[in-house]
Amino acid sequence: MIKTIPLQNQNSWQDCLADLITDPKELLKILNLKPEQLDLSMDVLREFPLRLPRSFANRMQQGNPRDPLLLQVLPQQQELVDYPGFVSDPLAEQQFNPMPGILHKYAGRVLLMPTTSCAIHCRYCFRRHFPYTENRPDKKQWLDSLQYIRADSSLTEVILSGGDPLAISDKHLEWLLEHLAAIPHIQRVRIHTRFPVVIPQRITQQLCDLFTRYRLRFVMVLHTNHAQELDDEVKAACKRLKEANVDLFNQSVLLKSINDNAETLADLSERLFTCGVIPYYLHMLDKVKGSGHFEVSMQAARSIMTKLRAELPGYLVPTLVKEEAASANKTPIL
Ligand SMILES: *Cc1c(COP(=O)(O)O)cnc(C)c1O
Ligand code: SF4
Repeated sequence: MIKTIPLQNQNSWQDCLADLITDPKELLKILNLKPEQLDLSMDVLREFPLRLPRSFANRMQQGNPRDPLLLQVLPQQQELVDYPGFVSDPLAEQQFNPMPGILHKYAGRVLLMPTTSCAIHCRYCFRRHFPYTENRPDKKQWLDSLQYIRADSSLTEVILSGGDPLAISDKHLEWLLEHLAAIPHIQRVRIHTRFPVVIPQRITQQLCDLFTRYRLRFVMVLHTNHAQELDDEVKAACKRLKEANVDLFNQSVLLKSINDNAETLADLSERLFTCGVIPYYLHMLDKVKGSGHFEVSMQAARSIMTKLRAELPGYLVPTLVKEEAASANKTPIL
């Protein structure tokens, strides 16, 4: 029997994480959908399980098999189709892995992976084949990572990514921030996270207090693909972060049948802005095996951007980028 906690009792983020939806059949039941209406696959779960917070599922539309939030998390048979050019490690990241838990690829910024776990599993994720077990740092690896950062004075920004860095406890985060604040050349800590969107309860006052405690400047880059993800609870979480002086940006992935038109992306930008979040990047899909059905062609992407620019103020237009294995930055597509 699956034990479920009624929504009104989900008052802590730990409770939410302990009660994720992991069975697609349960999800379909909640959404009033029949398996025949979908391209559901149970086989793909072995490689990349379903992980879905209830609050995110609540924002999906009942009875809609094409719901843009559902399609981001639904395990589908299409994932088994081989698309040419879609590989396990599209960014050849492993060669920029100077030690476990660290990616140092771009000047001035280093990416730390404090955890391999996420609050939600997004089916298009390029990390779905990442050798996570080799990147689960223990205390010694933490100290080694900090030593690496301390030894390179060209670094000014530490990016916490993952996995989802807010999956670690406040206590663990505090330990890390304290050590980072003690490294004189580090000015900013940036957190790449989906938590404020998928489990807004994670943004507690206690967490926000952490962000005001150090000399460091905090930047948070959320990950939202559709305006429907941003309900009032998310908006309130963003407000708490703004009050703690955290600068908020958003990155999205351009995804077929989810947000691949100018109108949807314009709505997303407008909604982000009402939450105090500035659109930052719109990523072309990384060509990871199992995600070919999400791909939007370069030509279509360009035409969407042209329409978007004609519709929105410049500061609400994200930069369309592509990540290339050998490049020293994300490549803008003009
Ligand atoms: C995306 C990314 C960054 C951050 O790039 P910005 O352009 O500063 O947002 C840093 N390091 C790695 C390895 C990245 O993939
Ligand atoms: S939250 Fe981010 S890292 Fe985790 S599965 Fe989704 S896209 Fe990937």
